[in-house]
Amino acid sequence: MKSITENAQKLPVMAEADVAVLGGGVAGRAAAVTAARAGAKTVLVERFGFCGGLATGGLVYYYWVMDDGRGHNVVRGLSTEILRRLAGMGALWVHPAWRGRTKVSERAGIRNAPRFDPEAMKLLADRMLRESKVKVLYHAFAGSPVVRGGRIRAVPIEAKSGRKALVARVFVDATGDADLAARCGVPCVARQRETMTAWFRAAGTALKARGDLPHFLRDLPLIETGQHGEPKGTARPAFNPLTSAGLTEWEMAAREMIFRKIDRIKRKLGGEVSVVSAPTHPNVRKGRRIVGAYQLGRKDNLKEFGDSIGRLGNWMVKGEVYQIPYRCLVAPRIANLLVPGRAISTTDDGWDVTRIISGCVLTGEACGAAAALAAKKRIPVQRADPARIRKLIGS
Ligand SMILES: Cc1cc2nc3c(=O)[nH]c(=O)nc-3n(C[C@H](O)[C@H](O)[C@H](O)COP(=O)(O)OP(=O)(O)OC[C@H]3O[C@@H](n4cnc5c(N)ncnc54)[C@H](O)[C@@H]3O)c2cc1C
Repeated sequence: MKSITENAQKLPVMAEADVAVLGGGVAGRAAAVTAARAGAKTVLVERFGFCGGLATGGLVYYYWVMDDGRGHNVVRGLSTEILRRLAGMGALWVHPAWRGRTKVSERAGIRNAPRFDPEAMKLLADRMLRESKVKVLYHAFAGSPVVRGGRIRAVPIEAKSGRKALVARVFVDATGDADLAARCGVPCVARQRETMTAWFRAAGTALKARGDLPHFLRDLPLIETGQHGEPKGTARPAFNPLTSAGLTEWEMAAREMIFRKIDRIKRKLGGEVSVVSAPTHPNVRKGRRIVGAYQLGRKDNLKEFGDSIGRLGNWMVKGEVYQIPYRCLVAPRIANLLVPGRAISTTDDGWDVTRIISGCVLTGEACGAAAALAAKKRIPVQRADPARIRKLIGS
């Protein structure tokens, strides 16, 4: 490949923080709020104009899962606050078995997987960040970190007003695909092929109101392309989730798939139906994950870890519960980098367990707590105490 040399330039320092969080998905928002609440001066940078990532812009508004599949909630901490506040905004649907004081026997076998209004989730994220005094910068893109002596010194931010440097004691790579960690030379597993899917919301006379659901679910159903309703035998195309060319392919194919699906619905049901919202965040389930000192996998069901930061149920299998070791969130080789969300260190089968929203919030808040502790004590993140992290996040 041909190359040119970019002019070396001095970047103005836009902020000097204790903790810098790059990416404002559910994991990044949780990290920033938790770090700030723990007393750290915190900055969050997000490339879009809202927080939530896949859970809002990607229209994945199914908050899987809070429970163990046997009727007990196992996820604690920030998720409970987020769900309570969404309920207070009239923006949450919870299965009747999980409403109020029901018996464990009535809930067993029914997953506690609430659904929420994605627009309300964006607003709630703004509110929580403002209340916690996180400095938020939307419409700003985090570039390749400046690494010296095994530490990130700064991350260049491409902002509307130009390129600036974000300096911090600890950095949290919450880009979802470990983009910054990979650029620092952290060992990663990268997937070059991801199956095409696009979730979208539609409305119209062809779609009938359903059951006891609130308006945001009943009248604007969430529809998935590519998976259900494609003619039998149709090969589901794939794209590279880690290149701009691949994401462009996804954008164009997603729009085609959505309108094809609308045509099929009209033909099948008669009447009118139109798209109300299409995903503005690429529907990438698994792009890249770090390879940390421990890789959590299905072999670890019910295993206890001394450095556990909290517990998570397996949304696919009732009765499976996983403790998540702090080691899975720590980027090797770099003294001040943590990685939460769908990019933590797992095996292939563990990836599907931990990448759900409740898992991403849990690992996000643990990274926020660890980052605040490490910044305060001026120690490498590898030495943050898991017991203190658990205490800070109440897990
Ligand atoms: C089709 C699909 C269906 C799913 N179904 C469910 C489900 O039913 N229930 C469930 O719980 N989970 C589901 N998931 C998984 C879940 O939605 C995600 O794994 C989770 O929301 C990921 O959160 P995150 O914060 O780790 O990453 P993301 O949501 O990807 O957030 C990353 C954020 O970083 C930002 N960013 C990226 N790069 C930069 C940069 N360089 N500079 C600044 N900002 C940057 C992005 O804009 C984004 O806001 C599904 C996922 C997909 C794709």
